[in-house]
Amino acid sequence: AVRARRDEYVNTFTHEFKTPLTAIRGFAELLQEPGFTEEEQKKYLQIIASESCQLTQLANDALLLTKLESKDMPMVKEDFWLDEQISQCLTLLEVSAREKRQSLTADIGPVELCGSEDLLSHVWMNLVSNAVKYTPEGGSISVSLRQQGGEAVFTVSDTGIGMTEEVKSHIFDRYYQADPSHTKKGIGLGLSIVHSVLELCGGRIDVESAPGKGSTFTVWLPGALPQSEAAVCPPQRDIR
Ligand code: ADP
Repeated sequence: AVRARRDEYVNTFTHEFKTPLTAIRGFAELLQEPGFTEEEQKKYLQIIASESCQLTQLANDALLLTKLESKDMPMVKEDFWLDEQISQCLTLLEVSAREKRQSLTADIGPVELCGSEDLLSHVWMNLVSNAVKYTPEGGSISVSLRQQGGEAVFTVSDTGIGMTEEVKSHIFDRYYQADPSHTKKGIGLGLSIVHSVLELCGGRIDVESAPGKGSTFTVWLPGALPQSEAAVCPPQRDIR
């Protein structure tokens, strides 16, 4: 059974690699023919560039997941401000949210954490970029961070497409996509990475979702350092 599953992964992986490669080769060959306008040439080059990005992303994600699952990944723990890391992630994703005219709001309280800063950044990036990706134009995404005792509690809610119970039960599987048509960026590794990172860090994740209504992911992480009394939660703000 393990071997069958491994073969299936290899098949999916190869397929996911071949699709962008076929596009890259096709457009590169096309560009060698004469008669295209400058605009057409630019369009084909853009496709080549974005398909190459997709390949890089795929290779990076697959490599990271393999390392995470082999469990021989050095876990470097350090004290850092989780609220700053999450704010940085939101700044990066703000551009895509704005392009889709989505409102992206954040209610981020100060949390100092002892944990793996590098690994955890994948968790917020994947969860919030999924919220943007699976929410139509004009929708809303809200993010929160709180400390509860020794735990950091993070949530991201969206007003997006949501998920059925069936979809929900598979989202942490490798290469799983509810809608595998390649119109959306990604190949179904993001949430597997999130799950593996949280497993390594001793955290947990839960999802509440209904089709057409949206989704809320909640993450609990151990290692929150005692709050200094001076720390006060800032009021809700729109990160724009
Ligand atoms: P990817 O986004 O690359 O497809 P992920 O592992 O990040 O892969 O997610 C797996 C699947 O879970 C997605 O393909 C999608 O069907 C579903 N999903 C994840 N996040 C959301 C969300 N916020 N709303 C609706 N569906 C989601």
